[in-house]
Amino acid sequence: MNPELNQSVTVLKGIGGETAETLAEMKIYTIHDLLEYFPYRYQDYRLRDLTEVQHDEKITVEGKVHSEPSLAYYGRKKSKITIRLFVDRYLIKVVFFNQPYLKNKFVINETITVTGKWDAHRQTITANEMQVGPNSKGHDFEPVYALRGKMTTKGMRKFISLAYQQYGNKIEENLPLSLLNKYRLLGRRDALWAMHFPNTSDDVKQARRRFVYEEFLLFQLKMQALRKFEREQSPGISQNYSQPKLKSFIDALPFPLTNAQKRVVNEILADLKSGFRMNRLLQGDVGSGKTVVAAIGLYSSVTAGFQGALMVPTEILAEQHAESLNSLLDPFAIRCELLTSSVKGKRRREVLQDLAEGRVDILIGTHALIQEEVTFKNLGFVITDEQHRFGVEQRRILREKGENPDVLFMTATPIPRTLAITVFGEMDVSIIDEMPAGRKKIETYWAKPEMLDRVLGFVEKELGKGHQAYVICPLIEESDKLDVQNAIDVHTTLTHYFQNRYKVGLMHGRLSSDDKDSVMKAFSANDVQILVSTTVVEVGVNVPNATMMVIYDAERFGLSQLHQLRGRVGRGSDQSYCVLLAAPKSEVGQERMKIMTETNDGFVLSEKDLELRGPGDFFGKKQSGIPEFKVADMVHDYRALETARNDAALLIQSKAFWSSPEYKFLRNELEWSGVLEGEKLD
Ligand code: ADP
Ligand code: MG
Repeated sequence: MNPELNQSVTVLKGIGGETAETLAEMKIYTIHDLLEYFPYRYQDYRLRDLTEVQHDEKITVEGKVHSEPSLAYYGRKKSKITIRLFVDRYLIKVVFFNQPYLKNKFVINETITVTGKWDAHRQTITANEMQVGPNSKGHDFEPVYALRGKMTTKGMRKFISLAYQQYGNKIEENLPLSLLNKYRLLGRRDALWAMHFPNTSDDVKQARRRFVYEEFLLFQLKMQALRKFEREQSPGISQNYSQPKLKSFIDALPFPLTNAQKRVVNEILADLKSGFRMNRLLQGDVGSGKTVVAAIGLYSSVTAGFQGALMVPTEILAEQHAESLNSLLDPFAIRCELLTSSVKGKRRREVLQDLAEGRVDILIGTHALIQEEVTFKNLGFVITDEQHRFGVEQRRILREKGENPDVLFMTATPIPRTLAITVFGEMDVSIIDEMPAGRKKIETYWAKPEMLDRVLGFVEKELGKGHQAYVICPLIEESDKLDVQNAIDVHTTLTHYFQNRYKVGLMHGRLSSDDKDSVMKAFSANDVQILVSTTVVEVGVNVPNATMMVIYDAERFGLSQLHQLRGRVGRGSDQSYCVLLAAPKSEVGQERMKIMTETNDGFVLSEKDLELRGPGDFFGKKQSGIPEFKVADMVHDYRALETARNDAALLIQSKAFWSSPEYKFLRNELEWSGVLEGEKLD
């Protein structure tokens, strides 16, 4: 950056101590900060045709005053002026809150211009700006800034304009000409001006387009440069697996792999073979067949002479995985062992000793795997399932049980592609986006709570066929604050309802792990036919005989979570059903229920979820990993994100990027952000 832009804002005329303090509150310290303090939206002062305006839009209209204003006071110091206004051929209402002094400004049949929020149902504008006479702003768009203290929009415009006059010529272009031309992007200096002083909506659009691309490109360059250096600095194991053995293993599977499975297997094998350490995320919807992919990967590593480990979050899952891996791998003389806290005494000592001496090929377990007593002879490949449930620290400990083993993270929580490549930007991402053929769609219905009787009749019918059912509730116990169903009460009610016919079990997070295990085992064995549970059943539980799920207060769950829950049924060959009991009040809530009934595709749902809730909420709480962009929006600008990502990859790989003067500014940005620390640049 040009050092002159790094000067304090106080070098500008009119910015003294007090103003500087206000600006500092807005985190504006330098000329550069001021010039890049972008508006968060624009008020459009173009006159609008009321027939084309959406409910709740902020608009400007011009019209003739039709009635005397009526002024009403209410409460303390509160007032409301109402007038009727002819806009084209429509008679609408305009209200002004707490501006009683405006009363004398209205003259019948005179033209006024008002700006405010349009209520389409009441045909009313709640105005916050008004001007006697026709629209005469002189510009169609006015930026709206997030302001503090005494700062006004006018003041901001003045200071930014002044800064631009004096220092605008110091703004340097950081994108190479080739990219500017390729995408017809505005130059940095012009784009900056247009962000603050646009004349038309197209000016804003072009300026935004440039900054969105710039932000994404810089972000991707940083991520990818980091990855490149990390790869070069932490060599992995080049695993020479046996191609013929692998082929006969795949040929012996009871089904052909889907194309998506083949693709991700190849990505994983390429990583195993390469001398770099694998750091890969494998995403696949529930039931997409990740387990067999994991088995192929682990087997490959064993044929190369290494041990493998599979770490999962719960004992039940560990047992299930051990069982399926054993049935796949046992015929190939591979020894898989289970290690959980339930494996005790002599058995445990045996497993640990055989592991340390290399007689166990693959170890499957919970976080028991990362305890100190566990030593591998030569760990080459680590897989963790449901990666978001393990902390970074736990994954590091497991990784350090070998010498730079390859690491694969598996998750069934479909993360929208856009988020995956930003949040997991330093990882490679593989996606299984195809289901095995012949899978039945889980029929999903949305029912109002008052239809509970009919829903229970439906459950009873499924149970009559010898099947089982899950009933999911948002809470464990009754809550004073929330009017939602809780598992304990529902369990009592259903026990009464189904008494003498079916057994009802109860599962929630506050049970001890022994109790949880025994409830789950009873349900697996069909000793219990109905399992009332909170969301603890969300992860990986596999009871193929369960064909029915009822979710109480379904509007309280996110789409991705509902999808995870629903994935507990539809695991056998019989048709499965899911009933969402919900009475959402908002339109968004209703739309979410509808989408659930329409699609079984986890990626579609997660994209929708992201769209409806925004990236911050997507992960439940503000997650530190999500980068904040000034202008760009990960959801709406995702195409630009993908473009920038591809461009960054090409640049990082090219020689020219690291030496040619054309890329000097981009390299400087990396240096500034510390990515290139210690790297010598020309
Ligand atoms: P998830 O991705 O949820 O872990 P699983 O690996 O448990 O899915 O697979 C779900 C079911 O689909 C298993 O019963 C598995 O045997 C079966 N399956 C996996 N891949 C295929 C395939 N290519 N064709 C048919 N069935 C498959
Ligand atoms: Mg699985």
